Amino acid sequence: MNIGVLGAGQLGRMLALAGYPLANRFTFLDTTGHPSADIGEVIIDTDQSHLEAFLDKVDLVTYEFEHLPVTLVQAIEKRKPVYPSSEAIRVCQNRAEEKALFDRLAIPTPAYRLVDSAEALEAAVNELGAPVVAKSVTEGYDGKGQAVIRDPAQAVDAWRSINHSQLIVESFVDFVREVSIIAVRGRDGEVVFYPMAENQHVDGILRYSLAPVPDLEDSVQHTADGYIRSLLDELDYVGVLTLELFQCADGSLLANEMAPRVHNSGHWTQDGAVTSQFENHLRAIQGLPLGDTRARQPTVMVNVIGQEADNSAVLAMADAHLHRYGKSERPGRKLAHINLVADTFDELLNKVRVCAALVPDAPESHFSFEPRAGSSFDTTSR
Ligand code: AMP
Repeated sequence: MNIGVLGAGQLGRMLALAGYPLANRFTFLDTTGHPSADIGEVIIDTDQSHLEAFLDKVDLVTYEFEHLPVTLVQAIEKRKPVYPSSEAIRVCQNRAEEKALFDRLAIPTPAYRLVDSAEALEAAVNELGAPVVAKSVTEGYDGKGQAVIRDPAQAVDAWRSINHSQLIVESFVDFVREVSIIAVRGRDGEVVFYPMAENQHVDGILRYSLAPVPDLEDSVQHTADGYIRSLLDELDYVGVLTLELFQCADGSLLANEMAPRVHNSGHWTQDGAVTSQFENHLRAIQGLPLGDTRARQPTVMVNVIGQEADNSAVLAMADAHLHRYGKSERPGRKLAHINLVADTFDELLNKVRVCAALVPDAPESHFSFEPRAGSSFDTTSR
């Protein structure tokens, strides 16, 4: 089976790496002019003149990047099976559509308003109460196109700096931790769920993901499973879907956003789960049985951003797995990640600290369940 992938970045590269053992072949369609997958066949198509050549080569189409013209995906859908569908892309690339879907399915989210002027933004800050987070409705990712507004007087500056025709304004959530749930839906409607991950972001960019979360109540996992199942079923979705959530002090979950693809917070599954998110996505879109999603052992994923890590020292660590993307160094660019696996959470947290010292500019990690100074919380038995 030759799989066509829209987008040609590291997610596509890792899909291909997971697909070769299944005898899949990959053809990427890159619309940006800057592909980095460096595997399979990459067709660079910045002027939509190579679409036919791409379609002729592939049996079905998926994607690793959702900021594509919906009309392009709809045109492809007329020619080849596309999983997940253009409807999933349409909803996920627009925060207003996404929130409307969450509301319709009774999935709780932070309170929000949609605004289309600086005046309306200021009014929304007054209504919701500062602080709020203003986000461009389209095209934002990794914290781009966002501003935290702490005073209504900052609304005009925020409107200008984001420079977008429509914004979504959300109450700032005083969360205990950020988590994500990744689930996979097969062509026959079967759904499997990964254990949730705890995610640490700095300036909107993911730095660490840990799974499974040792003190996460089963009821919270079940609640998240229910939310993502309703999204998958509503969209008649096939493949991997990711839902990012905030967990509040009372244990409740608020949905932040979703991604219609394999996700950075699921990279831990490559070395920490029985079946990786990449393999499971490929199984789903080909109508194959879905793989076991259980975590084998406590795992942390460490992102390498801007500058390469001390890779020899990383590889000298026990049960540390380096995944490089073959990209050149540039500030803010995701270059690689390291999966650390351990028998116990205490051992894992020690490994994270050793590893962070080998990754330039890595922030200090802190997971919500870690003992604070003076506490006797025991993580070894979980
Ligand atoms: P997003 O692009 O929506 O995932 O936002 C990037 C990051 O900004 C999130 O991972 C959070 O750390 C933070 N953030 C976004 N929205 C909110 C919110 N409503 N309240 C608090 N923090 C937020």
